[in-house]
Amino acid sequence: MKRIGVDLGGTKTEIILTGDNVLDIVERKRVPTIKDQGYERLIAQIAELINEFQSLVHEDEEITIGMGIPGSVFPPTGLVQSANTQCLIGHPLKKDLEALIKHEIRIENDANCFALSEALIGAGKGHESVLGIIMGTGMGGGIVLSGKLRKGVHGNAGEWGHMALIVNGTKCWCGQNGCMELYLSGTGIQRIYQERTGKKRILQEIYQGYEAGSDLAAEEVFEEFIFNFGRGMANLITIFDPSIIVIGGGVSNLPILYSEGVSSTTRQSFRPELPIPIVKNQLGDSSGIFGAAMLTE
Ligand SMILES: [Zn+2]
Repeated sequence: MKRIGVDLGGTKTEIILTGDNVLDIVERKRVPTIKDQGYERLIAQIAELINEFQSLVHEDEEITIGMGIPGSVFPPTGLVQSANTQCLIGHPLKKDLEALIKHEIRIENDANCFALSEALIGAGKGHESVLGIIMGTGMGGGIVLSGKLRKGVHGNAGEWGHMALIVNGTKCWCGQNGCMELYLSGTGIQRIYQERTGKKRILQEIYQGYEAGSDLAAEEVFEEFIFNFGRGMANLITIFDPSIIVIGGGVSNLPILYSEGVSSTTRQSFRPELPIPIVKNQLGDSSGIFGAAMLTE
């Protein structure tokens, strides 16, 4: 059996064709996402890529197709909701694509794809309950129990980026105030640093200033970040009591998460004596696309 996985990103779209073992990539392609020319043009682009990859597989061979999107599908209607790629919102993406590719496709939130692949073949392999969280430009999360995604009745389970963290905090794009995403995402850290210093710096530069002890503002930003990260993690652990937490996205590359971040989590936990591993992902940037290719499992 062959699998096609598509990772529809805000700027790039990637597609892979894999063999029986999902890690055996037969073909791979990455193109800029056509997102500013409307829904019809975007789905035509995706269908073209999938059809090209379908043609690589012998017609007698079984094939599965899955796609991760920066949004989610509302199960009762099949319509896309809360997507960063705005032109997808309100459309029956699965139905429309299936008409173009003449094949079934499973569509899932990209953070859920991340959680699925890390749970089955990545850092969470062998664990019964895996919480996969993404801390990148934005934030997302997915829950995998006994190898299966727990998507939620409305398709929103694990969206911890929009749990409230700060009372009367900064206004979030989601309509609420003080969401985790505004304080723990890479974008959030950069925004806070800029508000305090007037200087525009990328995440790695701010982190270097903190590590070197050469930037007082960066030290303050990361001290607060560690407290907030621990608070967020402790809340998640109280609700889910997972056997492991796997972190992805640009912020997951900061070593501080796995030292001070873990200590901060323990200090703020309901049962601090229970060691729940908080680890970096193993599949890197490919977590999402492998998860998409594995959606049929
Ligand atoms: Zn929010």
